[in-house]
Amino acid sequence: MSDRSPLEAEIRRRITTAGPMPLAEYMALCLLDREHGYYTTRDPLGTRGDFTTAPEVSQMFGELIGLWAATVWTQMGAPENVRLIELGPGRGTLMKDALRAVQIVPEFHSAVVAHLVEISPVLQAQQEKTLEDAGVTIFWHAKLADVPAGPAIILANEFFDSLPVNQAMKTDRGWHERRIQSDASDQLAFTIAPEPLPFFQTLLPAQSSTACAGAIFEWRGDTEAMEVGRRVADGRGAALVIDYGHLESGIGETFQAVGQHAYADPLTAPGALDLTAHVDFQALSRAIEAIGAKRFGPIEQSQFLRRLGIEQRAASLKAKAARADDIDQALARLIGRERTAMGELFKVAAFVHPSIGTPPGFEASAS
Ligand code: SAH
Repeated sequence: MSDRSPLEAEIRRRITTAGPMPLAEYMALCLLDREHGYYTTRDPLGTRGDFTTAPEVSQMFGELIGLWAATVWTQMGAPENVRLIELGPGRGTLMKDALRAVQIVPEFHSAVVAHLVEISPVLQAQQEKTLEDAGVTIFWHAKLADVPAGPAIILANEFFDSLPVNQAMKTDRGWHERRIQSDASDQLAFTIAPEPLPFFQTLLPAQSSTACAGAIFEWRGDTEAMEVGRRVADGRGAALVIDYGHLESGIGETFQAVGQHAYADPLTAPGALDLTAHVDFQALSRAIEAIGAKRFGPIEQSQFLRRLGIEQRAASLKAKAARADDIDQALARLIGRERTAMGELFKVAAFVHPSIGTPPGFEASAS
């Protein structure tokens, strides 16, 4: 008992008073609890942290995305003021590299006000440090809905995978919400709600009708995605979503825990592990498109970054850099297709106001 963390004690208290806890509630508490949440209490990124993201792998990632945004801004008619919004900016590295790269488009650089949507005070402090000399005005917000209205370009790298996910499990009576309880040996363990979810069939992809007992379906709430769509439509803007996930809704379990660059049991050490689930790009797109944004992609990250010119950028960095091997390795990590690389697993989708046309990287892949 005594080695239980305060967050585990709180989760158990809630289970005792309210009954088994839905997975999304568990995930939200583990990641975002004000005092003990994973994101709220630490900087998890980098080689010494728990996981590494594309902007932390190489400056090329943020630079190319910055130039993507500058081009989209021109396609938007070059509004005098544009909100460059980033959802879940981590250490602020993508934004720093993007803002440095767009100095070659001075009109865009001076049109930008950056708005960072970040819930973690620790990461916000890190972002303030990283962006000290960025040369643009920056505001922080806890949620996208708090960013003032107006022309906007929204960036989200590895944000949607960290939003709480729900799961349902098939039995011969239907699909039951998956919940967490304390089992006979007093460990946190999965269980299912006694009654099937009503009217759930309408949410499920077609293949679910042949799913066997024990099959799992995952889904997320639509609030953030719908807000992205609203911003794109109202602000005549654009959004770029990059994340690991699948192109079509499907049956299967992707909820996972990672600590120190290794997979772990998501029900042990609540608050000490990164909990995520793959992004269902079909469901995400449905929510963002609902309000009128036009979708491009999703395409694989390798294709997107190649089309933006990452290989040329790598070559020019190599010509200047003392450690050309590092650049080759970073390039391989970002666009490689093997399991340990990001090129195939990560997908990129753009959502733009219909007046904008095809954003860079999506030529010939309009849906
Ligand atoms: N985009 C960064 C970091 C990805 S980690 C990168 O690529 O390196 C996820 C980020 O989203 C972190 O900054 C985390 O604190 C933030 N985050 C997670 N859930 C959030 C929420 N509900 N609201 C706002 N920010 C959130």
